[in-house]
Amino acid sequence: MILPPATLGMLGGGQLGRFFVLAAHEMGYQVWVLDPDPASPAGKAADRHLCVPYDDYASLDLLAAECAAVTTEFENVPAATLEYLAKFIPVRPNAEAVAICQNRVAEKMFLRNHGIPHAAFMPVNSVADLREAGSELFPGILKVARFGYDGKGQARVASREEAIAAFQGFNNEACVLEQMLSLDYEVSVVLARDEHGACRSFPVAENAHAGGILDVSIAPARSSVCQLDSAQEIAERIAAELGYIGTMAVEFFVSRGALYVNEMAPRPHNSGHYTVDACVTSQYEQQVRALCGLPLGDARAHSAAVMVNLLGDIWYDPSQPGPDSHGAYREPDWSRLLSVPNLKLHLYGKHHARPGRKMGHFTVVDADPARALEVALAARAAIG
Ligand code: ADP
Ligand code: MG
Repeated sequence: MILPPATLGMLGGGQLGRFFVLAAHEMGYQVWVLDPDPASPAGKAADRHLCVPYDDYASLDLLAAECAAVTTEFENVPAATLEYLAKFIPVRPNAEAVAICQNRVAEKMFLRNHGIPHAAFMPVNSVADLREAGSELFPGILKVARFGYDGKGQARVASREEAIAAFQGFNNEACVLEQMLSLDYEVSVVLARDEHGACRSFPVAENAHAGGILDVSIAPARSSVCQLDSAQEIAERIAAELGYIGTMAVEFFVSRGALYVNEMAPRPHNSGHYTVDACVTSQYEQQVRALCGLPLGDARAHSAAVMVNLLGDIWYDPSQPGPDSHGAYREPDWSRLLSVPNLKLHLYGKHHARPGRKMGHFTVVDADPARALEVALAARAAIG
């Protein structure tokens, strides 16, 4: 076991990394963050911020010398960086698991090869591939294989012709074409898995998106119990097949009552933010525990929770003239949220708000799930 006050390494410096730093600090660990962004939210909270690219090998050597183990919060850390560090110190999750999750083709082939339910798809490398695509894939969604997030790098295509135009619009980059499912709703399972293969799933979250970005998560999800159990079983099977150690998330579609895996995230997940305020152990503390070889904590919720993302849009007042079409820039009136007693506000310390940028979130906790949702929606209306 790696015990406090050991130093832990974190590759990636966004809000997920920041919550990891805060959880590790509470437990008495120190954390070094490696992220090329000088304004990195996790870097600002860390004991040391190595502000360098992910392939700066001198800094990786320093990290390996100073840290007892290293993890990540960002799926696009080059797999080669993880493989290099693994020669010296434990790297959790392993590079291969991250490599599968960071490429939509590899990810969907993994699902297919393991008989895990997913939407019909095909890898697309050329216009010729699209000419041969089966008609069941239309209408569909064309998604770039690498570096897509928050609905970016995706195009909804009604026909083969639209798919070809979209593929060319993505500069003929490798893509997947996926059948469009009619969604009843979406859910996600966040879980932690330790080095002995023990797994603990958090309560399933139900997720609503707006403009391709997660908007609201409700936990527990309002689905039938057997459906929730099978989502957790599928997610735990995926983690086991990946040999995963750490916190990960599996996003699901529910379409005509059936579950389909959408994608996996080799890191804590936005839909698991609620675990900080509503669970015995948070997804970030589980990441620390799995990384350090500690037994996993109890993942049960002590309250129902509703999490609302705060995007940069609310920093702009469209009724007042501003430097651009979004309107005047001003700090939102946080007193409207801070005066709600069962609401927990989390701001990530990012300097500049842009429309669509995740700046913070809040979680409403309540014994009664319906009341949590009502309070959360009222709070959102008050701030938005
Ligand atoms: P991202 O990496 O941006 O989260 P996703 O693949 O999860 O990409 O897609 C973002 C959202 O787009 C999903 O949460 C869902 O709402 C919608 N979506 C994606 N793929 C499909 C699909 N095959 N059928 C229906 N909706 C989809
Ligand atoms: Mg997604």
